[in-house]
Amino acid sequence: MPEPQGPINTISDDKPHDACGIVGAYIPGENVAETLFFGLFALQHRGQESAGIATSEGDRIGLKAKMGLVSQVFREETLNGLPGHLGIGHTRYSTMGGSKEYNAQPLLADGQRGAIAVGHNGNVINAAELRIEMVEEFGSTFDRSSDTEVIAELYAKAPGTDWFEVSAYAMRRLKGAYSLVIMTKDQLIAVRDPLGIRPLCLGTLNGGWVVASETAALDNLGAEFVRELEHGETIVIDKHGVQSKIWSGTRAKHAMCIFEQIYFSRPDSIVNGELAYETRKRLGAEVYREHPVDADIVVGIPDSSTPHAVGLAAAAKIPYTEAIIRNRYVGRTFIQPDQHSRDQGVRTKFNPMRGVIEGKKLLVVDDSIVRSTTIIRVVKMLRKAGAKEVHVRVASPPIISTCHFGVDMATLGELIAANKTVEEIRDYIGADSLAYLSVEGLLRAVRAPQNAYCTGCFTGKYPIPVQLEMNKLALEAAPTT
Ligand code: SF4
Repeated sequence: MPEPQGPINTISDDKPHDACGIVGAYIPGENVAETLFFGLFALQHRGQESAGIATSEGDRIGLKAKMGLVSQVFREETLNGLPGHLGIGHTRYSTMGGSKEYNAQPLLADGQRGAIAVGHNGNVINAAELRIEMVEEFGSTFDRSSDTEVIAELYAKAPGTDWFEVSAYAMRRLKGAYSLVIMTKDQLIAVRDPLGIRPLCLGTLNGGWVVASETAALDNLGAEFVRELEHGETIVIDKHGVQSKIWSGTRAKHAMCIFEQIYFSRPDSIVNGELAYETRKRLGAEVYREHPVDADIVVGIPDSSTPHAVGLAAAAKIPYTEAIIRNRYVGRTFIQPDQHSRDQGVRTKFNPMRGVIEGKKLLVVDDSIVRSTTIIRVVKMLRKAGAKEVHVRVASPPIISTCHFGVDMATLGELIAANKTVEEIRDYIGADSLAYLSVEGLLRAVRAPQNAYCTGCFTGKYPIPVQLEMNKLALEAAPTT
């Protein structure tokens, strides 16, 4: 296998990419645009392609959505142009539909209940079929290429006398992952799909309510965390307060994405009732228990693997040491290096400290390996800095299958563990030893039975049937009317 090439994002960041971050607010007497902005700011890690905010003062929905980071899209004057006590926000990484401005969210749709705006995190796997059906049934027209347009149209056109009936109708028809924030001119609606694949939580702020993908966004706003939404739950917030219903078709089985625990959610977010940081420490401890090795220091690949490394070091009774310093300012604007300088990406992002590393046996902890583009260069970099031995432990199992629920993972051909044995990968990345956490160890660490989580990319077994190679741009080619 030749050494992988690719754009800077794959060189400097060999991680799966989550689809989106969503936030909603209903705070009587306040303009919520700034609240939504800071909520999105805390969720920027979930998507960096586009950002959008929609608000209402009670009479009409105003919207601003553009390509770029939250801080690039919104300035004070933009937020001042979005008045209203109610609104939703979205930051996007495209997993279905191209990275185009017209797919930036929130998206607007119109129906018998008036205009709505929708923000979506996840991936609906039957969007192409639904789109064809809705052209027939509702005379819908589509001019974008994202599954969110299908969701927005479905919620706008679905029969029902209240939002719970509408949501029940939509849940019967949508298959896949969808955490949603929806607004009308005077109501805020939050929805978590019946499998609960993507997170969504509820909090209170200044006498009103906020919803967000992660609790870290609530913390950033100074909001009080109330609870995570249940799978299959719809919440409606308006002048009458908060009402909630679980869809009657929701089964006991749920299937939250286990990658939220490993990598996606911020470590300071509560995921499935527990701080992700603590869960990640257990993942690190577990992989060491399964695959112990003698080493002088434990090193995490910063920043995402730090909690796993801390947990592993404690279990191993080997000192955790910062040996690699990460440049925190490497972002998407970084110039793509050419083939001759492909190591430049990792050198720019990470700087090893020779004085800490030289002559030592290192136990390097990575939270996950997708293609191996980062770890191969990190191992090389550590050896060049004088490491005596480099042992790699991965705090999640080998990724052997692609994701269909809103995570951009790479194609099957690019997933190194789908194409090589662990020993072949060890040899390829140049480590002295390599071991991954087992699926059983992963479930032990998250303290859950297998049917509480989706583990599809590690097991090839998904919570609902999926088409094995999904095309992110499938809806670009689908009929528009
Ligand atoms: S396949 Fe993997 S990344 Fe996708 S939802 Fe399931 S656990 Fe998460």
